[in-house]
Amino acid sequence: STIALSDLEKLHVLGHGNGGTVYKVRHRRTSSLYALKLLSPTASSDDRRLLTRETDILRRTSSLPSPHVVLCHSVFHLPSGDSAILMEYMDSGTLDTLLRRDGPFPESSLSDVARQVLHGLSYLHSLSIVHRDIKPSNLLVDSDFRVKISDFGVSKVMCRSLDPCTSYVGTCAYMSPERFDPEAYGGNYDGYAADVWSLGLTLLELYLGYFPLLGPGQRPDWATLMCAICFGEPPEIPGDASAEFRSFMECCLQKEAGKRWSVKQLLSHPFVAGKGSELSDL
Ligand code: ADP
Ligand code: MG
Repeated sequence: STIALSDLEKLHVLGHGNGGTVYKVRHRRTSSLYALKLLSPTASSDDRRLLTRETDILRRTSSLPSPHVVLCHSVFHLPSGDSAILMEYMDSGTLDTLLRRDGPFPESSLSDVARQVLHGLSYLHSLSIVHRDIKPSNLLVDSDFRVKISDFGVSKVMCRSLDPCTSYVGTCAYMSPERFDPEAYGGNYDGYAADVWSLGLTLLELYLGYFPLLGPGQRPDWATLMCAICFGEPPEIPGDASAEFRSFMECCLQKEAGKRWSVKQLLSHPFVAGKGSELSDL
C-alpha cells in the first residue's frame, strides 16, 4: 500500500543539512516510523538541484535495494514543486552521533563498519553510482549496528566519458586528492576510487576521535584542507593500530587514485574478510 504525505505525523527533527531537514515521522494508522527529508522554504536553487539529484539516485537503488544503502520508500511531489523523500528510520542516528556520544570506536567495530560500507559501495559502484560524500554523518546506524550509506545529494552516475568530478559541491574535507587535482593524482582515474579515500578517512576519524587531516579542535577551512589533502603526506596512522587495520587504511589512503585498492580488493582484505556476521552482508 502506498503512503500519502497526509498519513504521516511529524515527530521531531533528526538532522539538518544543506538546505534540508530530516524529520522523524509516524504513519498514523500503522504507527511505523520513517525519516522524511524536506527542503526548507528558504532553500536555494542549488539545494533544490541536490535534492533532485538525490531522488534520481534513490530511484535507481529502489528496485533492488542493498542492506547497506538506506531504503527509500517513496518520493512525494509537493505543490511547491519540491520533492520530499520518505526513507526507513535508522534508530541509532549516524556514526558521527555515536562518535560524539561514545568516543572513538574499537577496531572490532571499525571492521564491522568497514565491511558494511564496502558492501554498500560495491552495490552502488555496480550501478555506476559514485557516492562522493562518504563521511561519518552520512553513514546511518540502527540498534543492531547495521550500517547504511545515505545522503546522495552530491552523488554522480558515471557515464562512459571520463568526468573528473571537479565540482566542489558537498564537504571538501573528505574529498580525495584526485578530485582536487586530477592531473597529479588521477592516474587511471575512474571516479570510484574517491569513495575509497573517503572511507579510509572516515575509519581513521572514528579511530582517533577527530578529523585526521586537522589537529584536534582545529577549525576546518577550504584552503587548509585543500593544502593538507593535495600537498601533505597521507594522514598518519597511529602506532597502536593493529597491523591489519594499519594495512587496510594504507590501502584506502593512497594519494594516487590508481594505487588505491578497489572496493572489490578491499572486501578480501584480512581486516574485513572472514570476520563478523557474513549473513548480514548478503
Ligand atoms: P544533508 O544532505 O542535509 O546532509 P542527510 O540526508 O545527510 O542530509 O541528513 C541530515 C541528517 O539527518 C543526518 O546526518 C542524520 O543525522 C539525519 N538522518 C538522515 N536520514 C536519516 C534516517 N533515515 N534515519 C535517521 N536519521 C536520519
Ligand atoms: Mg549529510
